[in-house]
Amino acid sequence: MVDFKPTICVDFDGVIHSYERGWQGGVIYGQVVPGFFEWVESVRDRVKLVIYSSRSKTDEGVTAMSLWLHEKRDEWIKAGGHRHPTEPLTIEFAHEKPAAWLTIDDRAIRFQGEWSDPALSPDAILAFRPWNSQPPK
Ligand SMILES: [Mg+2]
Repeated sequence: MVDFKPTICVDFDGVIHSYERGWQGGVIYGQVVPGFFEWVESVRDRVKLVIYSSRSKTDEGVTAMSLWLHEKRDEWIKAGGHRHPTEPLTIEFAHEKPAAWLTIDDRAIRFQGEWSDPALSPDAILAFRPWNSQPPK
């Protein structure tokens, strides 16, 4: 039997990377959003994790995300994070948007089948704020 695992497409900025100051010329300046590595350990046996971001279109962007994430995971492990005892972690970094079963993103609205949904009105769309951004004063 094939060990099928649904693909979960995970955004990077604002989801894995704290990104509290927005885009800063491509620099990954923030921290890992707390709980990410614990979440990875809890789902890794059942889903295929693919990281896909606007950074994914260049090799430099993919390399930067990958190096940063490996470094942060090493820090997490040194600080006592509980990883799988034997299996190495495989997180894929895609260059193109994967065919995903589900996407985790900080800037998305779940489409509910109705284009008349008030959540999709121009005002609602323009008022959207991700979790780590305060509304303008
Ligand atoms: Mg994002």
